[in-house]
Amino acid sequence: MGHSGRVSKRKAQLRTFAEMLAAVPREPAPDPVTDEPARAGRRDDGTMADPAGRVYTCVRETVSATAALAAAAAGAVVVWDPCGCGGGCGFRWLGEAETARLVASGPPRIRCNKRRNGNISLWRSADGTVLLLAEDAVFWGDVLA
Ligand SMILES: [Zn+2]
Repeated sequence: MGHSGRVSKRKAQLRTFAEMLAAVPREPAPDPVTDEPARAGRRDDGTMADPAGRVYTCVRETVSATAALAAAAAGAVVVWDPCGCGGGCGFRWLGEAETARLVASGPPRIRCNKRRNGNISLWRSADGTVLLLAEDAVFWGDVLA
């Protein structure tokens, strides 16, 4: 077939390329990365980090449902710890669309009694970003339910 000449030429080009790569001196592999980026969640020093690595300090241990709604409406990041264990089984970080749904649904219901210990705390980062941490029995629209 008339193609054989082109195929072998291509093989020759590939081989040349492979030889060229083989000729390039190998640099030592970079050290494996051992430092993970700040893990999202509560940190040992009492601060809290979001998935982007932003660090928050607690401003109010407890805020009212009305204050939580106002903060969410003003653009606060909302994170939910459904079982209230401090994030041991993971936090749920709400996206902007979900936060908008919270705001549209009105204030949250925070159930805090003998059996349930719902709470919303307010946190702030150095750049002024506000975070709402909803823990345990907090019900808010169709997102925190
Ligand atoms: Zn948990």
